[in-house]
Amino acid sequence: MTDWQGRHVTVAGLGVSGIPAARALHARGAIVTVVNDGDDARAREQAAELEALGVTVRLGDGATLPEGTDLVVTAPGWKPDKPLFAAARAVGLEIWGDVELAWRLRGPDAAPWLAITGTNGKTTTTQMLASILKAAGLRTAAVGNIGVSLLDAVLGEEEYDVLAVELSSYQLHWAPSLRAHSAAVLNLAPDHLDWHGSMEAYAADKGRIYEGNRVACVYNVADKATEDLVREADVEEGCRAVGFTLGTPGPSQLGVVDGILVDRAFVENRQKNAQELAEISDVNPPAPHNIANALAAAALARAFGVPAAAVRDGLRAFTPDAHRIAHVADVDGVAYVDDSKATNTHAAEASLAAYESIVWIAGGLAKGAAFDELVAKSAKRLRGAVLIGADRALIREALARHAPEVPVVDLDRTDTGAMLQAVQEAKRLAAPGDTVLLAPACASMDMFTNYNKRGDAFAEAVRELGAGT
Ligand code: ADP
Repeated sequence: MTDWQGRHVTVAGLGVSGIPAARALHARGAIVTVVNDGDDARAREQAAELEALGVTVRLGDGATLPEGTDLVVTAPGWKPDKPLFAAARAVGLEIWGDVELAWRLRGPDAAPWLAITGTNGKTTTTQMLASILKAAGLRTAAVGNIGVSLLDAVLGEEEYDVLAVELSSYQLHWAPSLRAHSAAVLNLAPDHLDWHGSMEAYAADKGRIYEGNRVACVYNVADKATEDLVREADVEEGCRAVGFTLGTPGPSQLGVVDGILVDRAFVENRQKNAQELAEISDVNPPAPHNIANALAAAALARAFGVPAAAVRDGLRAFTPDAHRIAHVADVDGVAYVDDSKATNTHAAEASLAAYESIVWIAGGLAKGAAFDELVAKSAKRLRGAVLIGADRALIREALARHAPEVPVVDLDRTDTGAMLQAVQEAKRLAAPGDTVLLAPACASMDMFTNYNKRGDAFAEAVRELGAGT
């Protein structure tokens, strides 16, 4: 649909994606109706602004499809089983998400997309990729699920050579015609299954990122499910499958040899040759999962033709966002590390694998997760554990089953002083050389506004600890 004049578009959901979508479509001559479940003061304010432009807004009813709709554009988070979508499908309408809309509205000379998804590591890898592309002198930005709307990036004034695009599984679900230059799926572990309905549906939505790739489909050698998705994808003639591994890379892979990140995919004669890209110490932090992220970012950059030196410079210039394996302080020979962003078991497992001897601070809202595998895999690294939050009993029970010798402190309090006590207890359990690691494996909302506040509380507590010694 390129001629929007007079087309009736229903935009599902006010908010970060709905408002720019409604504006952009209205500006192109479409007749736009926004439908929204909520009808609070904020929604009314936003509705008034759109109505002033000539957009119709229907608050308090996101279920009924407006008469005469030609196309539905939805906020990515809306669940596919909503009655609005059933009504749209029943009359054969297309349903686009924010990413699909941006893809369709981009200009003919628009910058190609290097796309990234996965259960964990998306934001970090997307930022690393943008840093590498910048080091190569390219005009780029990290956009998408990272908090920068794709629509803004695609329709804005700024010109780009290439975009580093983070995509969530929801966004991919609603992006049927997206065709990236190259894409990576970092890993696949159960997450958001209530939304997708099953692990198969979740994986299938993640796998859409590979559809129609032109140059490279980047997968994780250690996570076979990602490779399976590449095999199932329908790609352009000549597009290659490129793996990344923490081990020695085979042909068509990027990997690690003697502490050096090397490329055996984008080199002449890959049967025999390898290109040095960077040293492990160039990756910040040099934890195993983060080296995997760096290799994935490097693979996408190399697929775009970026020289090896820019990979090194881009990785060196990169600093991770807060609360992602952030070293807070050393107190009495013990390191205190904040990975509050480890909000699920897969992320916490990666985090725990990065240290040898750990006092683990964990707990919060489990979101239906089981902790047996995480605890069984990490048991030998645990000096002790301090448990906080609503679902801490689940972790305590898993520790009793798989690590009965590990001392556990169970904190039955959720007030603002709880984190300070948790850190004090962790200090008591720790010996010099240990790491006290906040990697909760749970969401934070039982005790904190969000994971940022949880990490801040930890850092604050560590500072108090340091001041008192
Ligand atoms: P996302 O955007 O996918 O949520 P982030 O880059 O924000 O990912 O990282 C979130 C958390 O996931 C980190 O704090 C870390 O604990 C964990 N993590 C990061 N990269 C990986 C990875 N490659 N594999 C597993 N866990 C990871």
